[in-house]
Amino acid sequence: MNEEKYQPETLAVREGTLRSQFGEHSEALFLTSSFMFGSAEQAAKRFIGEEDGNIYSRFTNPTVTMFEERLAALEGAEQCVATASGMSAVLACVMGLLKAGDHIVASYSLFGSTVNLFNNVIKKFGVETTYVSATDVSAWQAAVRPNTKLFFLETPSNPLTEISDIAAISKIAKSCGALLAVDNCFCTPILQRPLDLGADIVIHSATKYIDGQGRVLGGAVLGSRKNMEGVYGFLRTAGPTMSAFNAWIFLKGLETLKIRMDAHSANALELAKWLEAQPNVARVLYPGLPSHPQHELAMKQQKSGGGIVSFEVKGGKEAAWRVIDSTRLLSITANLGDTRTTICHSASTTHARISPEARAAAGISDGLIRIAVGLEAVVDIQNDLKGLS
Ligand SMILES: *Cc1c(COP(=O)(O)O)cnc(C)c1O
Repeated sequence: MNEEKYQPETLAVREGTLRSQFGEHSEALFLTSSFMFGSAEQAAKRFIGEEDGNIYSRFTNPTVTMFEERLAALEGAEQCVATASGMSAVLACVMGLLKAGDHIVASYSLFGSTVNLFNNVIKKFGVETTYVSATDVSAWQAAVRPNTKLFFLETPSNPLTEISDIAAISKIAKSCGALLAVDNCFCTPILQRPLDLGADIVIHSATKYIDGQGRVLGGAVLGSRKNMEGVYGFLRTAGPTMSAFNAWIFLKGLETLKIRMDAHSANALELAKWLEAQPNVARVLYPGLPSHPQHELAMKQQKSGGGIVSFEVKGGKEAAWRVIDSTRLLSITANLGDTRTTICHSASTTHARISPEARAAAGISDGLIRIAVGLEAVVDIQNDLKGLS
């Protein structure tokens, strides 16, 4: 399909579909570890790359290929490589693009396991990371070293919904010969296309909104063919590739991504406005609210505010836990991107392992609650937050 001709809604339901000899309408699930060849000569040609085609599902699988082509079209990327999880996408990005002695500049506000990977795994192999404020563009410039090869950020961030200026930070990355990777998990290509804003690499945890129904783990790395060469090479050799079954689930997820993201965003905006009016709420952090410190930038680079709303209750941890424990409908879990609304206390769960001082410096107070707004009726979500009154 010529992706320039079609709108995202169309690409999301049709792009990448490969049909077998049976003419199935929906995408087939190719549960096979390996593929057969017509002759010894054909096998030889496939193995040395003289002929395109599948060999083994760690290298390529038609169901996974369909998912990769569809997501690449939605992000406007030349190539997508699918991975076993969001974390293996981050790992493949680093292993595919960097070498010992290289340096990363990353936002403080990263997913916890990404920070762990950078600090405790990648560092062992001689790649150091400097952390800077997600929102202070000049800090990115100041952190650059002669060996800086990668900038890495997430926007909006978790759980504070800080917005990084992708276009401005990408200019700094370009000026020093580094690549900018954006973890686009919270927005998905429906709400934000980092490559259009100057980023070089997009990372996904497909586990979240792309599945959208909390079933399976997966991830993806996207970018130019040149940049994906090493990333794919690492995955094919090391093995954290996406299973065909999960790719089939994600293909179904992509088909409804647009209508789900629009609904998550609309529900989140309505809930955020309601929370702002509650007397026991000290502040609400949602990029779609005019009160958000970076509302203007968010509305410039995103289509809408997304599905994540954080808010601070008066009364610290005790009050926050009371609100969470009084819910009957919402799911107390740190996962997000699900049809079911989830609620969690960041300071004692996702950010419990960092020191209270570091948490305070990052702005994650004891009264902070994060809600990943699902697709239930907003009035039912509001009624379930009775612990607020
Ligand atoms: C969940 C998440 C990841 C990791 O993804 P997994 O699929 O759990 O490995 C990475 N980045 C962000 C922003 C996430 O929310």
